[in-house]
Amino acid sequence: MTPIELEKRAFELADKLIDGEKLSKDDFALLIRAERELPEENAAALREKLSKRALELKQLHYGNAVYVRGLIEVTNYCKNNCLYCGIRRGNPTVSRYRLTKEQILSCCAEGYALGFRTFVMQGGEDAYFTPERVADIVREIKRNYPDCAVTLSLGEYPKEVYALWREAGADRYLLRHETANAEHYSKLHPAEMMLETRMDCLKNLRSLGFQTGCGMMIGSPYQSYETLAEDLVFIRDFRPQMVGIGPFIPAHDTPFANEKAGTFEQTLFFLSIVRILLPEVLLPATTALGTIHPHGREMGMLSGANVCMPNLSPADVRSKYSLYDNKLYTGSEAAQSLNDLEKRLETIGCNIAFVRGDSKLTE
Ligand code: SAM
Repeated sequence: MTPIELEKRAFELADKLIDGEKLSKDDFALLIRAERELPEENAAALREKLSKRALELKQLHYGNAVYVRGLIEVTNYCKNNCLYCGIRRGNPTVSRYRLTKEQILSCCAEGYALGFRTFVMQGGEDAYFTPERVADIVREIKRNYPDCAVTLSLGEYPKEVYALWREAGADRYLLRHETANAEHYSKLHPAEMMLETRMDCLKNLRSLGFQTGCGMMIGSPYQSYETLAEDLVFIRDFRPQMVGIGPFIPAHDTPFANEKAGTFEQTLFFLSIVRILLPEVLLPATTALGTIHPHGREMGMLSGANVCMPNLSPADVRSKYSLYDNKLYTGSEAAQSLNDLEKRLETIGCNIAFVRGDSKLTE
């Protein structure tokens, strides 16, 4: 295919996508290829076409509101050894920590006073956080703040465990699928981790009534146009309430330490496509996006994102939850600097909504 044919076909497919037509995996792969391979001017026009539509859809469903979530990184101990992740079990240079129940509750108290109405408990898969211990913390948060939502992001567990957490009051669960292609999954994870297990977890979470989030890194090693196309087909068909998309950023002392980071532009392109595929989705402009570009959060919002997750972890542990190098945790990434975030959002005509911000996506 000549560059001219590629451009023509990509713009036709963008029109189809905007019109709500169903694209095939090959169509998505071509669109993704065009964004990478067309001359920058044409690629930028393609991105702009999709971001314009994504922004319209976001405004239609959410207006100028940005939902904020207080992110509490409860532990950086992890039994897993994901090749990309800075807190993988095999990284000996990580200074490990875990928060106590009291510390987590005091993060919530501080967050509540700041205006947060969703708390996200995220962490590595740490045996200290037994199913009952997590359930107990969730119950306590819900007892203290019945008007708040609790999101968990603690990794893979059997259905019974998810059910216990749901009964304890957890509302949402974030578990990125990382890639919808089994071979690619096996190159990002050690042999004991399987895509099938991840997908079963996601289905279980959904069936238990969690607002469920999947997602992937953009630019992870061994990713291809085809694997990314499979991600989009999966996201469209699974219809998650939330999608976490951020660039892959290498982390020192991991097998992928010397790999290239994902690009800012491609990440924005995917935010727009996902907003168009699922107009009512909750879509964060991630910390990773803020890390690779000084205006990452704002540009993410202009490309279709509508959620921000400032860091509410105790200040002394923030630097230890280093999933990748140079991860931001100060300035507008810090929950304490909501004013700073608000000012940045004002520059693009958005404002923070101090509400739970549930998903509007129905079955
Ligand atoms: N253990 C839980 C899990 O696996 O879902 C939650 C924590 S995990 C560290 C959260 C997310 O961080 C992962 O889903 C992954 O996509 C992202 N992440 C890990 N390493 C990363 C890297 N080097 N660059 C960008 N994102 C990364």
